Amino acid sequence: MATNISDIGTVHLVCRDVGHAWNLIGYWLYGADRKRLLRCTRCESEREDTLIPRYGYTLKRRYIYADGYLNDKGTVLDKSDYRAELLDRVVVADERPRD
Ligand SMILES: [Zn+2]
Repeated sequence: MATNISDIGTVHLVCRDVGHAWNLIGYWLYGADRKRLLRCTRCESEREDTLIPRYGYTLKRRYIYADGYLNDKGTVLDKSDYRAELLDRVVVADERPRD
């Protein structure tokens, strides 16, 4: 677990800024419900959803964060704090990037 924002990896800062890039891994039975596993293609954090198939509702959502993603629980940071740290690290082009 990182002790301060400068210890958080750049990939993790991107996910904190723009959100995780979820990739569907698969579904499995969980009693009458279903579970699905999603994994972030950038940081490899995982999200496990418990779903009610008949209604399509999400009953529960659990996150398993990649090593280095979380900071100290005593440190409360706003999303803009992560973005500011990220902007200190990234290369900024003179023009809008192309694909
Ligand atoms: Zn991520």
